[in-house]
Amino acid sequence: MTLFEKIAAHLIPADIVYEDEHTVAFRDLHPVAPVHVLVIPRKPLARLSEASADDVALLGECMQTARLVATQLGLDDGGYRVVMNNGDDAGQTVPHLHLHILGGRPLTWPPG
Ligand code: AMP
Repeated sequence: MTLFEKIAAHLIPADIVYEDEHTVAFRDLHPVAPVHVLVIPRKPLARLSEASADDVALLGECMQTARLVATQLGLDDGGYRVVMNNGDDAGQTVPHLHLHILGGRPLTWPPG
């Protein structure tokens, strides 16, 4: 079981802000913005490059959850960023596909 599967199964603690049949959203342990939430599919896909055509609906569910959570956390007016790191060069550290929702302050672009 991945770390994030354990969080989704409530086996280890996390600040869960949203969950449904296919996705879970929880606050990042080391936030880099006033709002920093991770959205994961319950299905343990390691990274985007391991997804297949069968996962198209699930990837859409993750984006839908990101949109709902951003609204729930009051980010719609100020705006927010949704990021997915894929693999080593992107700095992915947890091998369970996840979206980062970042908001609550102006964010620089491009990222480093
Ligand atoms: P990434 O670098 O894209 O793989 O992002 C992984 C994220 O998971 C990092 O921002 C970590 O701070 C976060 N993280 C690691 N362990 C936990 C945990 N137990 N609960 C919440 N977030 C975590």
